[in-house]
Amino acid sequence: MPGSTLFVVATPIGNLTDMSLRAIEVLRQVELIAAEDTRQTQRLLSHYGIATRLISYHDFSDQSTCQRIIQRLNQGESVALVSDAGTPLISDPGYGLVTEARSHGLKVIPIPGPSAFVAALSVAGLPTDRFSFEGFLPAKAGPRGKRLRALATEERTMIFYEAPHRINAMLQACASHFESSRKVFLGRELTKKFEQHFCGTLASALTWLAEDENNMKGEFVVVIAGGDEAAWQIARLEKADGLVAELRKEMPMKKAVAFISAFLGLSKNELYRRVLERDQ
Ligand code: SAM
Repeated sequence: MPGSTLFVVATPIGNLTDMSLRAIEVLRQVELIAAEDTRQTQRLLSHYGIATRLISYHDFSDQSTCQRIIQRLNQGESVALVSDAGTPLISDPGYGLVTEARSHGLKVIPIPGPSAFVAALSVAGLPTDRFSFEGFLPAKAGPRGKRLRALATEERTMIFYEAPHRINAMLQACASHFESSRKVFLGRELTKKFEQHFCGTLASALTWLAEDENNMKGEFVVVIAGGDEAAWQIARLEKADGLVAELRKEMPMKKAVAFISAFLGLSKNELYRRVLERDQ
């Protein structure tokens, strides 16, 4: 075991047997394990009969915790960093410690393994050649809408993390900022007993969630297809439908169509035809 090394160790996201042999070996051999939640990590260590000392570390730990770890690394010891599940630093603590270790010229070695977003992306059936990991969207509607507006022209597959009590509001927001027909994959409780996959559109995902309260439980990765010109055109037309319907309460249909088509950059004739078809 090389000394003065910070090992960033991935741990299972639900299924304990997803632990790699190398991860077990490193956790056994380092002098210290810095863990997001020591009680959670203790369960993993007990399962594998690992007796290494644990200390608590998260990014809002006081500076002295980080400095104590750096000091021990500088003295020649090796330390492993783990989070509660998956890969540290991926929507998890560790950024402060890794940057500090790097600034001291210490070795930082990854021990790769599970990460929920890679697991979800690998089975989502959506393009994987280019993707954007977005982590958690803001919980509040205002900042969440701002982030989604910024993603409105994203062409790459987008990956989000979400908590069960926010999944419905999150998907509603996505359906209103993207097109409701946009393809989505929901990976629920990946690698766990009640693992479930949903493949469909944003609209059908909302219906699926409402069908059974169990569908809303547990941890979620949400993978959403990127947009393209055709998809954005559909979104603009869907938006136009709603706006024309509102304006028609105040003015003649032709005037509402002229106004909205100019506002959204749509063909007036196409929008007019569409409104007539919907009226039939
Ligand atoms: N560091 C972790 C990783 O590498 O995936 C992510 C930690 S983040 C605090 C926790 C979020 O990851 C959950 O809210 C959920 O969105 C996602 N997640 C973690 N485990 C999952 C699982 N087994 N199934 C689905 N999503 C999971």
